[in-house]
Amino acid sequence: MKILVIADHDNGALKPETSKVVNAASKIGSDITVLVAGANVAEIANSAAQIAGVTNVIVADDAVYAQQLAENTADLVVELASGYSHILASASTTGKNMMPRVAALLDKSQISEIIAVVDENTFKRPIYAGNAIATVQSNEDVKVLTVRASAFDVQASQGAVAINSVDSAVANTTTEFVSVEQTMSERPELTAAAVVISGGRGMQNGENFALLEGIADKLGAAIGASRAAVDAGFVPNDMQVGQTGKIVAPNLYIAVGISGAIQHLAGMKDSKVIVAINKDPDAPIFQVADYGLVADLFEVLPELEKAL
Ligand SMILES: Cc1cc2nc3c(=O)[nH]c(=O)nc-3n(C[C@H](O)[C@H](O)[C@H](O)COP(=O)(O)OP(=O)(O)OC[C@H]3O[C@@H](n4cnc5c(N)ncnc54)[C@H](O)[C@@H]3O)c2cc1C
Repeated sequence: MKILVIADHDNGALKPETSKVVNAASKIGSDITVLVAGANVAEIANSAAQIAGVTNVIVADDAVYAQQLAENTADLVVELASGYSHILASASTTGKNMMPRVAALLDKSQISEIIAVVDENTFKRPIYAGNAIATVQSNEDVKVLTVRASAFDVQASQGAVAINSVDSAVANTTTEFVSVEQTMSERPELTAAAVVISGGRGMQNGENFALLEGIADKLGAAIGASRAAVDAGFVPNDMQVGQTGKIVAPNLYIAVGISGAIQHLAGMKDSKVIVAINKDPDAPIFQVADYGLVADLFEVLPELEKAL
């Protein structure tokens, strides 16, 4: 049983999701190869080689993979797929774009967003916005899996294993990279942050999110939002947590002025400790909260910041 894990990176650094996907892979078997596709990714390959459980690393280092476009990266994965029984990538934007193409090209059914490995053929994945967990058994000879990285821990380190280059540069003939617009922030990335503080409709407007910023600065937290806050234009869409936003599972999640709709819970209920601040004692968020504060956020947020 040979397992191929597709590394998640931004050409600058390996993302922690890769280590978590290796953790998932290690529950399937012990022969784990990591593929690093990108441009100037030697350092990233080095980092991948030091994730505990990885047996070897393959690097496809070429300008054609600089943007990791799904179209040609999927072709590369298929080119290398022979002999692997499992192909895994994180259910990140990149993985969700690429892996269905890999599955289709291999004529396999993808199993998406697994949160647990039961055995080499059987996996658990959330359905109905996380309200039920399906146990899925696959008869495919090659399993194409995306992994909800937040459900797995980061692996420990090991002494670096062998890194081999592949001389494959699949040109992209159908699509062209035009530009990327990135939100630059000093704060940790929402999906990787150990602490997340999110604001909802109760924040009333975008300016009031400054009340969360002071606390986030003190806690080294990322700032998230409910969909209602995003739809109302308080904050940009990339801050949305939930079923149609980002899935987070930090050590500490602070929900401020968020009612706790199931679609929001789908994105944060696996957080280790949940704190809710809401003026309505009957708000559903209190049903999942470890600590609840029934209070007006405009009174308690400045106090909390001062106390911190
Ligand atoms: C298909 C689909 C997908 C969806 N995906 C998502 C998703 O990904 N993420 C998501 O978040 N939602 C999602 N939603 C929307 C979801 O159903 C809710 O509408 C949304 O989460 C509500 O956001 P909210 O809690 O900020 O707003 P509300 O439900 O309006 O809650 C605001 C809360 O703020 C409290 N509040 C008000 N003022 C104060 C104050 N001064 N101090 C303290 N508390 C105060 C209120 O008591 C209330 O509980 C989705 C919906 C659908 C149908």
